[in-house]
Amino acid sequence: MTFAEWRTARPAPVGVHVDSAACSRPSFAVIDATAAHARHEAEVGGYVAAEAAGPVLAAGRAAVSALTGFAADDVVYTTGANNGLDILLADWTGERTVACIPGEFGPSLLTLARYGFEVRPLPTDDAGRLDAEAAVAALTADPPALVHFTPLSSHRGIVHPVAPVSTACRAAGIPLIVDLAQAFAHLDCADVDADAVYGTSRKWTAGPRGVGFLATRPGWLSEPTLLRLGHNEANVAARVGFALALGEHLAADPARVRARLAEVGARTRTALAEVPGWQVVEPVDEPSAITTLTPPDGVDAAQVRARLIAEHGVVTTYLGVERAPLEMTRPALRVSPHVDVTAEDLQTVVAALTAVG
Ligand SMILES: *Cc1c(COP(=O)(O)O)cnc(C)c1O
Repeated sequence: MTFAEWRTARPAPVGVHVDSAACSRPSFAVIDATAAHARHEAEVGGYVAAEAAGPVLAAGRAAVSALTGFAADDVVYTTGANNGLDILLADWTGERTVACIPGEFGPSLLTLARYGFEVRPLPTDDAGRLDAEAAVAALTADPPALVHFTPLSSHRGIVHPVAPVSTACRAAGIPLIVDLAQAFAHLDCADVDADAVYGTSRKWTAGPRGVGFLATRPGWLSEPTLLRLGHNEANVAARVGFALALGEHLAADPARVRARLAEVGARTRTALAEVPGWQVVEPVDEPSAITTLTPPDGVDAAQVRARLIAEHGVVTTYLGVERAPLEMTRPALRVSPHVDVTAEDLQTVVAALTAVG
Protein backbone atom coordinates (compact mmCIF):
# COMPACT_ATOMS: atom_id res chain seq x y z
CA MET A 1 0.00 0.00 0.00
CA THR A 2 1.22 3.46 -0.84
CA PHE A 3 0.54 6.32 1.54
CA ALA A 4 -1.72 7.87 -1.10
CA GLU A 5 -3.73 4.62 -0.91
CA TRP A 6 -3.86 4.98 2.86
CA ARG A 7 -5.70 8.23 2.16
CA THR A 8 -8.14 6.88 -0.44
CA ALA A 9 -8.89 3.89 1.82
CA ARG A 10 -10.90 6.26 4.06
CA PRO A 11 -13.53 8.97 3.63
CA ALA A 12 -12.15 12.20 2.20
CA PRO A 13 -11.33 14.70 4.95
CA VAL A 14 -13.29 17.92 5.10
CA GLY A 15 -10.40 20.38 4.95
CA VAL A 16 -7.03 19.32 6.37
CA HIS A 17 -6.92 16.84 9.23
CA VAL A 18 -3.62 17.07 11.14
CA ASP A 19 -4.89 15.71 14.45
CA SER A 20 -3.90 12.05 14.61
CA ALA A 21 -2.41 12.34 18.10
CA ALA A 22 -5.97 13.12 19.22
CA CYS A 23 -7.90 10.90 16.86
CA SER A 24 -7.02 9.55 13.42
CA ARG A 25 -9.43 8.91 10.58
CA PRO A 26 -10.57 5.26 10.31
CA SER A 27 -10.71 3.47 6.95
CA PHE A 28 -13.87 2.44 5.09
CA ALA A 29 -13.07 -1.17 6.01
CA VAL A 30 -12.88 -0.31 9.73
CA ILE A 31 -16.11 1.68 9.59
CA ASP A 32 -17.85 -1.10 7.62
CA ALA A 33 -16.67 -3.86 9.96
CA THR A 34 -17.87 -1.86 12.97
CA ALA A 35 -21.25 -1.23 11.37
CA ALA A 36 -21.57 -4.82 10.17
CA HIS A 37 -21.04 -6.10 13.70
CA ALA A 38 -23.68 -3.72 15.04
CA ARG A 39 -26.07 -4.98 12.36
CA HIS A 40 -25.22 -8.58 13.23
CA GLU A 41 -26.10 -7.89 16.88
CA ALA A 42 -29.58 -6.85 15.76
CA GLU A 43 -29.91 -9.94 13.57
CA VAL A 44 -28.72 -12.72 15.86
CA GLY A 45 -28.49 -11.10 19.30
CA GLY A 46 -25.56 -9.29 20.90
CA TYR A 47 -24.15 -12.29 22.75
CA VAL A 48 -24.39 -14.62 19.76
CA ALA A 49 -22.74 -11.97 17.57
CA ALA A 50 -19.95 -11.52 20.14
CA GLU A 51 -19.25 -15.25 20.07
CA ALA A 52 -19.15 -15.22 16.28
CA ALA A 53 -16.64 -12.34 16.40
CA GLY A 54 -14.30 -14.42 18.60
CA PRO A 55 -11.72 -15.15 15.89
CA VAL A 56 -11.59 -11.48 14.80
CA LEU A 57 -11.10 -10.36 18.40
CA ALA A 58 -8.39 -13.01 18.85
CA ALA A 59 -6.64 -11.70 15.70
CA GLY A 60 -6.70 -8.21 17.24
CA ARG A 61 -5.03 -9.52 20.40
CA ALA A 62 -2.45 -11.34 18.26
CA ALA A 63 -1.71 -8.08 16.44
CA VAL A 64 -1.19 -6.26 19.76
CA SER A 65 1.09 -9.14 20.72
CA ALA A 66 3.11 -8.74 17.52
CA LEU A 67 3.48 -5.01 18.12
CA THR A 68 4.31 -5.15 21.85
CA GLY A 69 6.00 -8.50 22.46
CA PHE A 70 3.38 -9.44 25.09
CA ALA A 71 1.61 -12.79 24.66
CA ALA A 72 -1.76 -12.61 22.88
CA ASP A 73 -3.39 -14.39 25.86
CA ASP A 74 -2.19 -11.57 28.11
CA VAL A 75 -3.86 -8.83 26.06
CA VAL A 76 -7.32 -7.56 27.01
CA TYR A 77 -9.49 -4.96 25.33
CA THR A 78 -10.28 -1.82 27.32
CA THR A 79 -12.23 1.34 26.62
CA GLY A 80 -9.02 3.35 26.12
CA ALA A 81 -5.60 4.09 27.54
CA ASN A 82 -6.74 5.70 30.76
CA ASN A 83 -9.02 2.74 31.42
CA GLY A 84 -5.91 0.52 31.19
CA LEU A 85 -4.09 2.55 33.84
CA ASP A 86 -7.19 2.55 36.02
CA ILE A 87 -7.45 -1.27 35.84
CA LEU A 88 -3.76 -1.61 36.78
CA LEU A 89 -3.89 0.81 39.71
CA ALA A 90 -7.18 -0.55 41.06
CA ASP A 91 -5.34 -3.87 41.40
CA TRP A 92 -2.20 -2.38 42.98
CA THR A 93 -1.47 -3.47 46.56
CA GLY A 94 2.10 -2.17 46.97
CA GLU A 95 3.57 1.04 48.31
CA ARG A 96 2.43 4.20 46.53
CA THR A 97 5.45 6.05 45.20
CA VAL A 98 5.82 6.34 41.45
CA ALA A 99 8.46 7.83 39.14
CA CYS A 100 7.36 9.44 35.84
CA ILE A 101 8.77 11.85 33.29
CA PRO A 102 7.94 15.48 34.16
CA GLY A 103 5.96 15.57 30.91
CA GLU A 104 3.60 12.91 32.23
CA PHE A 105 0.06 13.14 30.81
CA GLY A 106 -2.11 15.28 33.12
CA PRO A 107 -5.07 12.88 33.29
CA SER A 108 -2.67 10.03 34.20
CA LEU A 109 -1.27 12.16 37.03
CA LEU A 110 -4.85 12.67 38.25
CA THR A 111 -5.45 8.90 38.11
CA LEU A 112 -2.22 8.27 40.04
CA ALA A 113 -3.23 10.89 42.62
CA ARG A 114 -6.68 9.35 42.95
CA TYR A 115 -5.00 6.06 43.91
CA GLY A 116 -2.83 7.85 46.47
CA PHE A 117 0.47 7.77 44.59
CA GLU A 118 3.20 10.26 45.37
CA VAL A 119 4.87 11.27 42.10
CA ARG A 120 8.64 11.65 41.68
CA PRO A 121 9.65 13.28 38.38
CA LEU A 122 12.54 11.63 36.54
CA PRO A 123 15.44 13.88 35.47
CA THR A 124 15.41 15.36 31.95
CA ASP A 125 17.69 17.55 29.85
CA ASP A 126 16.87 21.06 28.64
CA ALA A 127 14.74 19.74 25.75
CA GLY A 128 12.63 17.80 28.26
CA ARG A 129 14.06 14.48 27.10
CA LEU A 130 14.73 11.82 29.72
CA ASP A 131 18.30 12.09 30.97
CA ALA A 132 18.83 8.33 30.91
CA GLU A 133 22.02 8.29 32.95
CA ALA A 134 20.63 10.52 35.72
CA ALA A 135 17.32 8.62 35.67
CA VAL A 136 19.02 5.26 36.09
CA ALA A 137 21.09 6.68 38.95
CA ALA A 138 17.97 8.07 40.66
CA LEU A 139 16.01 4.82 40.26
CA THR A 140 18.92 2.79 41.59
CA ALA A 141 19.75 5.05 44.54
CA ASP A 142 16.20 5.41 45.83
CA PRO A 143 13.82 3.00 44.07
CA PRO A 144 10.18 4.07 43.92
CA ALA A 145 7.50 1.38 44.32
CA LEU A 146 6.53 1.77 40.66
CA VAL A 147 7.70 3.41 37.45
CA HIS A 148 5.07 4.71 35.05
CA PHE A 149 6.84 5.58 31.82
CA THR A 150 5.51 7.39 28.76
CA PRO A 151 7.95 7.08 25.82
CA LEU A 152 6.01 9.61 23.77
CA SER A 153 3.72 12.07 25.44
CA SER A 154 0.71 14.00 24.28
CA HIS A 155 1.96 17.56 24.58
CA ARG A 156 5.37 17.23 22.89
CA GLY A 157 6.80 15.05 20.13
CA ILE A 158 9.98 14.18 22.02
CA VAL A 159 10.81 10.46 22.10
CA HIS A 160 12.14 9.22 25.45
CA PRO A 161 14.37 6.14 25.59
CA VAL A 162 12.65 3.19 27.33
CA ALA A 163 15.45 0.61 27.32
CA PRO A 164 17.64 2.18 30.06
CA VAL A 165 14.56 2.61 32.27
CA SER A 166 13.55 -1.03 31.73
CA THR A 167 17.06 -2.20 32.57
CA ALA A 168 17.23 -0.07 35.72
CA CYS A 169 13.77 -1.26 36.81
CA ARG A 170 14.70 -4.90 36.28
CA ALA A 171 17.97 -4.47 38.20
CA ALA A 172 16.27 -2.72 41.12
CA GLY A 173 13.15 -4.93 41.08
CA ILE A 174 10.83 -2.02 40.31
CA PRO A 175 7.58 -2.84 38.49
CA LEU A 176 7.28 -0.89 35.23
CA ILE A 177 4.11 0.24 33.48
CA VAL A 178 4.51 1.83 30.03
CA ASP A 179 1.90 4.13 28.54
CA LEU A 180 1.87 3.50 24.78
CA ALA A 181 -1.08 5.79 23.97
CA GLN A 182 1.06 7.87 21.58
CA ALA A 183 3.88 5.42 20.93
CA PHE A 184 1.82 2.44 19.73
CA ALA A 185 1.67 2.05 15.92
CA HIS A 186 4.00 5.06 15.78
CA LEU A 187 7.32 4.03 17.40
CA ASP A 188 8.85 0.59 17.75
CA CYS A 189 7.22 -0.92 20.85
CA ALA A 190 7.97 -4.58 20.16
CA ASP A 191 10.92 -4.78 22.53
CA VAL A 192 9.53 -2.77 25.42
CA ASP A 193 10.51 -4.75 28.51
CA ALA A 194 7.78 -3.84 30.99
CA ASP A 195 5.31 -5.53 33.33
CA ALA A 196 2.33 -3.88 31.71
CA VAL A 197 1.66 -1.68 28.68
CA TYR A 198 -1.51 -0.03 27.52
CA GLY A 199 -2.74 2.01 24.58
CA THR A 200 -5.68 3.18 22.60
CA SER A 201 -7.28 2.49 19.20
CA ARG A 202 -8.17 5.91 17.90
CA LYS A 203 -4.73 7.57 17.73
CA TRP A 204 -2.01 6.19 15.42
CA THR A 205 -3.75 2.86 14.78
CA ALA A 206 -6.67 4.80 13.26
CA GLY A 207 -9.26 2.51 14.81
CA PRO A 208 -12.63 3.48 16.29
CA ARG A 209 -12.98 5.59 19.41
CA GLY A 210 -13.80 4.16 22.85
CA VAL A 211 -11.58 1.09 22.67
CA GLY A 212 -7.99 0.26 23.62
CA PHE A 213 -5.80 -2.51 24.99
CA LEU A 214 -3.96 -3.54 28.12
CA ALA A 215 -1.21 -6.16 28.09
CA THR A 216 0.28 -7.57 31.29
CA ARG A 217 2.80 -10.24 32.16
CA PRO A 218 1.19 -13.49 33.41
CA GLY A 219 0.12 -13.22 37.05
CA TRP A 220 0.22 -9.44 37.09
CA LEU A 221 -3.52 -8.89 37.33
CA SER A 222 -5.43 -10.54 40.16
CA GLU A 223 -7.92 -13.32 39.40
CA PRO A 224 -10.95 -11.20 40.43
CA THR A 225 -9.81 -8.40 38.09
CA LEU A 226 -9.30 -10.83 35.18
CA LEU A 227 -12.72 -12.36 35.82
CA ARG A 228 -14.35 -8.97 35.92
CA LEU A 229 -12.63 -7.92 32.65
CA GLY A 230 -13.97 -11.06 31.01
CA HIS A 231 -17.55 -10.19 31.94
CA ASN A 232 -17.61 -6.41 31.55
CA GLU A 233 -20.14 -4.90 29.19
CA ALA A 234 -18.33 -3.85 26.01
CA ASN A 235 -18.81 -2.18 22.66
CA VAL A 236 -17.88 -5.30 20.71
CA ALA A 237 -18.40 -3.51 17.39
CA ALA A 238 -15.66 -1.04 18.35
CA ARG A 239 -13.35 -3.94 19.31
CA VAL A 240 -14.00 -5.55 15.92
CA GLY A 241 -13.17 -2.25 14.20
CA PHE A 242 -9.98 -1.92 16.27
CA ALA A 243 -8.97 -5.48 15.35
CA LEU A 244 -9.44 -4.59 11.70
CA ALA A 245 -7.40 -1.38 12.03
CA LEU A 246 -4.60 -3.40 13.66
CA GLY A 247 -4.67 -5.79 10.72
CA GLU A 248 -4.42 -2.87 8.32
CA HIS A 249 -1.48 -1.47 10.27
CA LEU A 250 0.37 -4.81 10.12
CA ALA A 251 -0.42 -5.12 6.42
CA ALA A 252 0.99 -1.64 5.79
CA ASP A 253 4.31 -2.77 7.36
CA PRO A 254 4.79 -1.18 10.80
CA ALA A 255 8.48 -0.40 10.15
CA ARG A 256 7.58 1.48 6.99
CA VAL A 257 4.80 3.38 8.80
CA ARG A 258 7.26 4.32 11.56
CA ALA A 259 9.82 5.60 9.06
CA ARG A 260 7.16 7.56 7.24
CA LEU A 261 5.79 9.10 10.45
CA ALA A 262 9.30 10.27 11.38
CA GLU A 263 9.64 11.84 7.94
CA VAL A 264 6.19 13.44 8.28
CA GLY A 265 7.28 14.97 11.60
CA ALA A 266 10.42 16.46 10.02
CA ARG A 267 8.47 17.88 7.07
CA THR A 268 5.81 19.32 9.34
CA ARG A 269 8.37 21.04 11.56
CA THR A 270 10.26 22.36 8.57
CA ALA A 271 7.06 23.78 7.05
CA LEU A 272 5.76 25.28 10.28
CA ALA A 273 9.07 26.95 11.11
CA GLU A 274 8.04 29.52 8.46
CA VAL A 275 5.02 30.76 10.42
CA PRO A 276 5.86 34.18 11.88
CA GLY A 277 5.93 34.38 15.66
CA TRP A 278 5.22 30.70 16.38
CA GLN A 279 7.99 28.49 17.80
CA VAL A 280 8.31 24.81 16.88
CA VAL A 281 9.21 23.02 20.10
CA GLU A 282 10.81 19.77 18.82
CA PRO A 283 14.13 19.38 17.03
CA VAL A 284 13.32 19.01 13.29
CA ASP A 285 14.51 15.38 13.13
CA GLU A 286 12.79 14.11 16.27
CA PRO A 287 11.50 10.70 15.11
CA SER A 288 7.78 11.27 15.76
CA ALA A 289 4.89 12.80 13.83
CA ILE A 290 3.91 15.09 16.71
CA THR A 291 4.79 18.75 16.24
CA THR A 292 3.94 21.36 18.83
CA LEU A 293 4.12 25.12 18.56
CA THR A 294 4.07 27.83 21.16
CA PRO A 295 2.15 30.94 20.16
CA PRO A 296 3.53 34.47 19.99
CA ASP A 297 2.95 36.52 23.15
CA GLY A 298 -0.66 37.59 23.51
CA VAL A 299 -2.02 34.99 21.07
CA ASP A 300 -4.57 32.57 22.54
CA ALA A 301 -3.86 29.07 21.16
CA ALA A 302 -7.39 27.84 22.01
CA GLN A 303 -8.89 30.58 19.94
CA VAL A 304 -6.46 29.90 17.10
CA ARG A 305 -7.41 26.22 17.10
CA ALA A 306 -11.12 27.13 16.88
CA ARG A 307 -10.54 29.65 14.09
CA LEU A 308 -8.36 27.21 12.11
CA ILE A 309 -11.34 24.83 12.01
CA ALA A 310 -14.06 27.43 11.44
CA GLU A 311 -12.26 29.58 8.87
CA HIS A 312 -9.80 27.19 7.19
CA GLY A 313 -11.05 23.63 7.82
CA VAL A 314 -7.73 22.81 9.49
CA VAL A 315 -8.06 20.43 12.47
CA THR A 316 -5.32 20.66 15.12
CA THR A 317 -5.26 20.28 18.91
CA TYR A 318 -5.17 22.94 21.58
CA LEU A 319 -2.88 21.95 24.45
CA GLY A 320 -3.60 23.62 27.75
CA VAL A 321 -1.00 23.36 30.51
CA GLU A 322 -3.23 20.82 32.32
CA ARG A 323 -2.15 18.35 29.61
CA ALA A 324 1.29 18.06 31.22
CA PRO A 325 1.09 20.22 34.35
CA LEU A 326 4.56 19.30 35.69
CA GLU A 327 6.26 20.47 32.49
CA MET A 328 4.16 22.91 30.45
CA THR A 329 4.40 26.54 31.41
CA ARG A 330 2.25 27.89 28.56
CA PRO A 331 -0.38 26.52 26.17
CA ALA A 332 0.53 25.21 22.73
CA LEU A 333 -0.92 24.04 19.44
CA ARG A 334 -0.33 20.47 18.22
CA VAL A 335 -0.10 19.47 14.56
CA SER A 336 -0.04 15.69 14.10
CA PRO A 337 -0.55 14.47 10.52
CA HIS A 338 -0.67 10.80 9.59
CA VAL A 339 1.24 9.04 6.79
CA ASP A 340 -0.97 10.49 4.04
CA VAL A 341 -0.17 14.17 4.60
CA THR A 342 0.85 16.02 1.42
CA ALA A 343 3.09 19.03 0.87
CA GLU A 344 -0.06 20.88 -0.18
CA ASP A 345 -1.77 20.02 3.13
CA LEU A 346 1.20 21.39 5.03
CA GLN A 347 1.21 24.57 2.96
CA THR A 348 -2.50 24.99 3.74
CA VAL A 349 -1.74 24.65 7.46
CA VAL A 350 1.12 27.15 7.21
CA ALA A 351 -1.04 29.66 5.32
CA ALA A 352 -3.99 29.23 7.69
CA LEU A 353 -1.86 29.61 10.82
CA THR A 354 -0.13 32.64 9.34
CA ALA A 355 -3.53 34.21 8.53
CA VAL A 356 -5.09 33.45 11.94
CA GLY A 357 -2.21 33.70 14.37
C1 LIG B 1 -4.41 10.11 24.78
C2 LIG B 1 -3.45 9.72 25.87
C3 LIG B 1 -3.87 8.97 26.97
C4 LIG B 1 -5.32 8.64 27.23
O1 LIG B 1 -5.90 7.86 26.24
P1 LIG B 1 -7.46 7.59 26.29
O2 LIG B 1 -7.66 6.53 25.25
O3 LIG B 1 -8.12 8.89 25.98
O4 LIG B 1 -7.81 7.14 27.66
C5 LIG B 1 -2.93 8.58 27.89
N1 LIG B 1 -1.63 8.90 27.75
C6 LIG B 1 -1.18 9.63 26.71
C7 LIG B 1 0.27 9.94 26.60
C8 LIG B 1 -2.09 10.07 25.73
O5 LIG B 1 -1.64 10.79 24.71
